[in-house]
Amino acid sequence: MPIRKKIGKAYKGIPVSPGFAIGRAHVLNRFHLCVLKHVVGRDSVKGELERFERAVEGTRNKMLKTARESVKNLAENMSYILNPQIQLLQDPMIIGATKKMIEQEMVNAEWALQQTYNKLSAKFKNIKNSYFRERLHDLGMVINQVTQVLTGTEQETLESVEEPVIVISHDLSPFDTAQMATSKILGFVTEVGGKTSHTGIIATSLHIPALVGVKRITDIVKSGDTLIVDAVHGDLLIYPSEENFQMFNKKQQDYLSFDRKLESEVGLATETKDGIRVDLKGNIETSRDIKLAVEHGAEGIGLYRTEFLYRSGRGFPSEGEQFDEFKKVAESVAPHDAVLRTLDIGGDKMPAGYDDEPEPNPALGLRAIRYCLDNRQMFRSQLRAMLRASHYGKIKIMYPMIGSVEEIRKTKSILEKQKKELRREGIPFDENIKVGMMVEIPSTALLLDQFAPYVDFVSIGTNDLIQYLLAIDRANEKVAHLYEPLHPAVLRMLYMIIDSANRHNIPVSVCGKMSADPIYAYLLLGMGTIADLSMEPYSIPKIKSFIRNISVKEAREDLRKVLEFGRVRDIRKYLLEKVSHLLEDGLTSEVLAESYGKGIFR
Ligand code: PEP
Ligand code: MG
Repeated sequence: MPIRKKIGKAYKGIPVSPGFAIGRAHVLNRFHLCVLKHVVGRDSVKGELERFERAVEGTRNKMLKTARESVKNLAENMSYILNPQIQLLQDPMIIGATKKMIEQEMVNAEWALQQTYNKLSAKFKNIKNSYFRERLHDLGMVINQVTQVLTGTEQETLESVEEPVIVISHDLSPFDTAQMATSKILGFVTEVGGKTSHTGIIATSLHIPALVGVKRITDIVKSGDTLIVDAVHGDLLIYPSEENFQMFNKKQQDYLSFDRKLESEVGLATETKDGIRVDLKGNIETSRDIKLAVEHGAEGIGLYRTEFLYRSGRGFPSEGEQFDEFKKVAESVAPHDAVLRTLDIGGDKMPAGYDDEPEPNPALGLRAIRYCLDNRQMFRSQLRAMLRASHYGKIKIMYPMIGSVEEIRKTKSILEKQKKELRREGIPFDENIKVGMMVEIPSTALLLDQFAPYVDFVSIGTNDLIQYLLAIDRANEKVAHLYEPLHPAVLRMLYMIIDSANRHNIPVSVCGKMSADPIYAYLLLGMGTIADLSMEPYSIPKIKSFIRNISVKEAREDLRKVLEFGRVRDIRKYLLEKVSHLLEDGLTSEVLAESYGKGIFR
């Protein structure tokens, strides 16, 4: 049923690449491909297999060409997104399985390919983790490309776009987005997609404002409609009024000059007005992200999430594979250091293929260090790979979700055994390697002093700490509104951790998302001495600029006041006023209040 256009109405979406776009819509004509089954007969199987191979090869060549052409405009590291997608076209789980079906069931190639995808989707359908859901979605897009070749249909691509427009589409693949590098795209809006979509990552690297998840928008918008995309708050305005126009024009200008200001400050020291230096580091998932982090001003890597090495779904990576990757990290982060976190799978981060026996309550189950202590062989090989890599640069090891002194003692003894083994084998490693742990469980926070003898540093994982302190599943959208970093209990606990670490001379960092929001960073810096704040690379310039405008002395005074408030609402209001006032210099308080104060965390 057609939906009536609501004039001047804002539709909600998920902002995946920040910014504002104002312009005319171009609705991409992407119809649903309908694939029918037919039996080809024994004599035609060979021909059908050849037809399939040609289609796969043709698609692969086309994707390689797009990747090659877009590389000029895309950040170099984006190839880590595009290449694995191209490799899917050689994956036996997809290509091999499809060929087998053509042979055994004597069916047409497009049908067999569709069935292969359906089977994979069914296998992984219970995975809650948005990352893995997104990857399945990526696979769907690649299969769609092959199906187009097989069925001789061609969906509209961005190559047909000739003038600056805002693209509206049911979906866009990372390859579509990569093509935007050479097209005149002001912004885009899709009906599907999530926060961790690769499409969003590429759009961010191209500075193209983007919203995803705007339901049924292709039914609502027509090509030529005037639109405003507010990819800071997640709004799409259709047929804006003159007033809307003026307001958003100003917002867009403010945003762009704010962005330029941040860019120009990347090389400056991160120091508060009262002379306190704060190290800002990057959270990354592959060695390829290091360049991106450094370009955004990171002085080292505060969190390397190793679980992403395990995402292929083909079992644990070997010690050698891990060593190669960690060595790259050590070498490319120099002269700074990198904190490698041992495997943190389980909970919302269970890769496909590991979850043989689903747990009733995975966030409280066999996760992170518990999983590693239960899978000793895997754990030992990861520790060995980390130790070996430490010979090539400044590497630190960090354990996730430590919940008891007993656990840290066990890990310490396992690590010592690996060191002994390496010495015996004559393999070099950094004998003074620093070892730390994450503080993510309230019981650990309460007893932090007892951990002091066993660790060289700690890093607060606010994402999990809040989850466990407030009993709110961080992956459950139904309770997302209750997930509150400014909850008085959260603030009190963070203060307690930082104060205790300072008193026991344990360097304390923060690597959860709270580091990346100025309001929270302000409070954290008021709580005591923080060794570093670590965050996803794109947030570093904004936090740097913020820190250069504040004084720690004032942050301490404000923290004291805020700790006395009982209600989140009062805390937020007080801080928003405070932060806008602090940053009046050179930045409009409106952009700040909007892009800083609320949206970032959720
Ligand atoms: C955290 O919990 O804050 C954290 C940084 O770890 P992750 O988000 O990977 O669980
Ligand atoms: Mg965590």
